[in-house]
Amino acid sequence: MTNSPNDAGRSNDWEPCRSGELRDLASRLRSSRRMGSNLLKLAAVVLIGAMIGTGVFLYQNRSPGGITCQQCSQYLASHGTSEAFHQLDADVRQSIVKHVADCPDCHEHFQHRLDKLIGRIQSGIAEMVAFAESLWR
Ligand SMILES: [Zn+2]
Repeated sequence: MTNSPNDAGRSNDWEPCRSGELRDLASRLRSSRRMGSNLLKLAAVVLIGAMIGTGVFLYQNRSPGGITCQQCSQYLASHGTSEAFHQLDADVRQSIVKHVADCPDCHEHFQHRLDKLIGRIQSGIAEMVAFAESLWR
């Protein structure tokens, strides 16, 4: 025996609804829909909170050592030699060191400059060695 609607008239499985059964069913469906809507609102609040938290985290990470990339760059432009750097206040020096260590952009920038400097020193030493060897042959 099947229970498809077409068989409803012939089937003995169908029973009349009790009084208020459709109203109760509609009420449960509305309640379920409200709960789904509230879950969506809660998910939106959680998502917005996570986005704000991520934004604050990223903003704070833009100032490692308590200074911005621009401040770090300005300090190193005006105090780029070892002697000048050590004339800076100890807290400022520590902020610069921490910034360069923790800021990916500045770290990459100064690593690139350091690599270029090391390359120039190495080629300078190679030239000096070649010159010295040419003198003592
Ligand atoms: Zn930076």
